[in-house]
Amino acid sequence: MTVSDNIKQFLKTEIPDNVKLIAVSKTKPVEMILEAYHSGHKIFGENKVQDLAAKYEDLPKDIEWHMIGHMQSNKVKYIAPFVSLIHGVDSFKLLKVIHKEGEKNNRKIDCLLQFHIAKEETKFGLDLTEAYEFLRSDQFKNLNNVNICGVMGMATFTENEDTIRSEFKELVHIFNELKETIFINSADFKEVSMGMSGDYKIAIEEGATMVRIGSLLFGARNY
Ligand SMILES: *Cc1c(COP(=O)(O)O)cnc(C)c1O
Repeated sequence: MTVSDNIKQFLKTEIPDNVKLIAVSKTKPVEMILEAYHSGHKIFGENKVQDLAAKYEDLPKDIEWHMIGHMQSNKVKYIAPFVSLIHGVDSFKLLKVIHKEGEKNNRKIDCLLQFHIAKEETKFGLDLTEAYEFLRSDQFKNLNNVNICGVMGMATFTENEDTIRSEFKELVHIFNELKETIFINSADFKEVSMGMSGDYKIAIEEGATMVRIGSLLFGARNY
């Protein structure tokens, strides 16, 4: 099976119509992404700013590029002109920089707030208290060049499905809570990005609207 066939098959059998597939092409060469692109699927995700910027340059311009990894504020400028969605907003500082870069590029940049739902300390993300603190500030109300479209999270890397499921439930709980408060009047606040190759089925069952799948589509990564 080619990558293109993999994606077509995966979309057909695994992904309901109301869920968006982000094909995670990190570490994979442009030739392979181009092959994937020929399946007709045009939504790809990368986790490093440099790679994302380079691949944007080299590949067709109708690709919708998602930044899925942890980001440093000083690198936002490299992707601000073209990025479709930044999944990993985990600080107010980063959000403010994205706003500034959006302003410079005369666009509104779509973002997701990343929440820390896993047991692992190493994973990034906000907690709800921390998020409320800045979401309720006047400074936040003036960030007109960012558009917060929902939440993102990563479950613990484990075989234990109960753990994974309860973490995804927690993310959906956080989403609902924000939807009923801060974002009550925001139609754009509707996305829950959760689920990877190992846990996407559980994520979809629990209400993911976006799944980020890499190795199942492109094969294992060797770093
Ligand atoms: C790499 C990565 C994925 C995809 O991982 P797979 O297990 O290969 O599907 C999803 N989300 C994030 C944030 C990633 O870094």
